[in-house]
Amino acid sequence: MIPSPTHQALYRRWRAQTFAQVVGQEAVVETLRNAVRTGRTAHAYLFVGPRGTGKTSLARILAKALNCTDLRDGEPCDACPACVAIREGRALDVSELDAASNNRVDDIRELLPRIYTAPSDLRRKVFIVDEVQRITQGWDVLLKTLEEPPDHVAFVFCTTDSSQIRPAVLSRVQRFDFRRLSVAEIEGKLRRILDADGRAAEPDAIELVARLAAGGMRDAESMLDQLLSSGVETLTAEGVRDLVGLADAESVSAFLSAMVSGDALAGIQLVDRLEEGGRDLRSFLDQAAEVLRAALVAALVARPAPGAGLAAAGPTALAAAARRLAGLDPGRAGPGGLRLQLELALMAPVATEFPDPVAGRAELRRAEAVAEASGPITSPPPQAPPPRRSSRSGRTEVPPAAAPVEPVAAPEETRPAVGVGPAPPAAVLPVPAPAAAALPVVAPAAAAADAGLERLRARWPEVVAIVSRHPPSKPLIEACRPIAVEGGVVTLGFPEGQSFFKEVAEKRRPHLEEGIGRVLGESIAVRCVATNLDVASGAEEPDAARILAEARRIFGEDLADVDEIR
Ligand SMILES: [Zn+2]
Repeated sequence: MIPSPTHQALYRRWRAQTFAQVVGQEAVVETLRNAVRTGRTAHAYLFVGPRGTGKTSLARILAKALNCTDLRDGEPCDACPACVAIREGRALDVSELDAASNNRVDDIRELLPRIYTAPSDLRRKVFIVDEVQRITQGWDVLLKTLEEPPDHVAFVFCTTDSSQIRPAVLSRVQRFDFRRLSVAEIEGKLRRILDADGRAAEPDAIELVARLAAGGMRDAESMLDQLLSSGVETLTAEGVRDLVGLADAESVSAFLSAMVSGDALAGIQLVDRLEEGGRDLRSFLDQAAEVLRAALVAALVARPAPGAGLAAAGPTALAAAARRLAGLDPGRAGPGGLRLQLELALMAPVATEFPDPVAGRAELRRAEAVAEASGPITSPPPQAPPPRRSSRSGRTEVPPAAAPVEPVAAPEETRPAVGVGPAPPAAVLPVPAPAAAALPVVAPAAAAADAGLERLRARWPEVVAIVSRHPPSKPLIEACRPIAVEGGVVTLGFPEGQSFFKEVAEKRRPHLEEGIGRVLGESIAVRCVATNLDVASGAEEPDAARILAEARRIFGEDLADVDEIR
């Protein structure tokens, strides 16, 4: 089915039809036009370059130039029957084959009869083979053809990856390398399209589309196409961000500020909002990395950094944050996915600072909150440095200089540098040896309550499945375990040392209560505590260990002594 002209994609409507209309690739265009003008065209060309840089468009123009009956200085006329037939895609002698869709050119041998028969209407038969590196069979046959090609045939092979093409083939073709288009080149063409279409656009919007296209005109045009088809009056940068799921600049710098300042909760709430607003976290990570890198460079040359929150941070703090971002793996599909990784990246400074009685004030407050909520499970004495039991006894003192950057909690003059004093073995969480401390949670449960807990545990996978349907709640429900059920109150235990989960869970309590209530068939209330899950849940699944192992994988040396946490 042929789309009507009005609904044809922009890149088809605006495809260059002559050498003169090609944007960028000047060297390639000039060489080809000269070859046509002087009659010294080759029998086989290889166009190499990133996708969307105009390889097949130029191949079609070359096909016209080889067949045009009204050639002007090497330029096809785009008006003679040959040119028109090629432009409209109905010239029998010009074949476009896409090796990427296997069924078309699985075997070059299929092409042979067509190669060796004379053209029906045009002077030269032209075979344009896209993604030629995907062809798996028949190359030997093709090599023979390329050695002694029939006069009436020309090949244009296009590829995004020339390393996949055999040297014997490479030596028999004339190669042209296509470069990515510059932002200015793409912007220029987008502007011409918009003008011709009578559409208005913010300059920011055009520039953003051009940047997002990463050098590929076709991507830029199809993005523009989608934006225009939504029928907006004026194209705005906000509209572009909505289309591709990009976060706004304010969110990016707020996230980075939270990361540098160690305000994990603010950062997590921000990630919540982004995800609920349909923003793509993978792109967000790219955006954050880009801004952070700019801030780092600015800090190194002592220029004001973009984003107010970041301007205050020194290069050391910025570099530490950048290292944490660089350690994330957006391609990893695992529990919590990229979202959890981003949240852990926010947490990293807190984890290493926790034991510092001065710099870790914010965390002490959190620990107090935990104590309040969970009673006997964890009981850090308010204000006091942690005299709790630690597997590494006799250390409660950390030199302030060893604490990583923590503008929120640290007094101005003690803002030391991460990296200068890497967390020493001592600087880890002195969480109580759990066995004795955690037992009281389970022990007082009456027989009826035990039965309730058993019932909930048995159906826990259903709860996880239901709650996980709300993506922001997925990492939460996966991180916790039911540890008590009593009088309509379900107590959920979150891994100790990661109280941020518990804090976020408390904000999402209605959602958790709804999910659990639905599975149990009764209305319940949820209470969140931080506890040692190994003990509290009978060590059936060392979830905390899994999360911590994951954290260690992500952060490497930053959590070198992570075992201490358990
Ligand atoms: Zn022509």
